[in-house]
Amino acid sequence: MTQQAYLGLGANLADPEQQLQEALARLTRHEGIELLACSSFYRSRPLGPQDQDDFINAVCRISTSLSPLDLLDRLQAIEQAQGRQRSRPWGPRTLDIDLLFYADLVLHSERLTLPHPRIAERAFVLYPLRELLPDGCLPDGRRLDELEPAVRGQSIYPWPQPD
Ligand code: ADP
Ligand code: MG
Repeated sequence: MTQQAYLGLGANLADPEQQLQEALARLTRHEGIELLACSSFYRSRPLGPQDQDDFINAVCRISTSLSPLDLLDRLQAIEQAQGRQRSRPWGPRTLDIDLLFYADLVLHSERLTLPHPRIAERAFVLYPLRELLPDGCLPDGRRLDELEPAVRGQSIYPWPQPD
């Protein structure tokens, strides 16, 4: 049986756009994962420490035969393969992949919280997610037009920027 899931991708080191493209290619190659759709890319200012470069972000929709924890393992393996090092909280990273939703599953375990707890606080998640959700609702029923005002002060731009 397959389930749909949404992934949030972000990078701000070592050619971030290329990091996202490479991560999408790795997801596509994985046999338990099918890439169904990807948002456009966005550039966002870091939310934490400001002494680091902007992030490039995107969200994608996949279908998967993997369980949530097996999927998380795969996502973390891709982060590792692309040189992810945990330096400091909120610090720069070559690649971060967050599991935003897995079907409409609600889960609180040591390794995995679903839906991802910080979706509603982050413009760099909500804006690309909006492209993939035609009815304007998150899979758990929350409406984007009710969530977006809270993140309107955050700096986020289409990428690449129009000339
Ligand atoms: P962050 O993405 O918050 O900057 P990390 O990528 O380092 O931080 O993730 C920290 C931990 O968050 C991971 O070890 C993982 O087990 C846990 N985690 C809990 N829920 C999720 C989720 N929905 N998606 C991704 N990681 C999650
Ligand atoms: Mg993460």
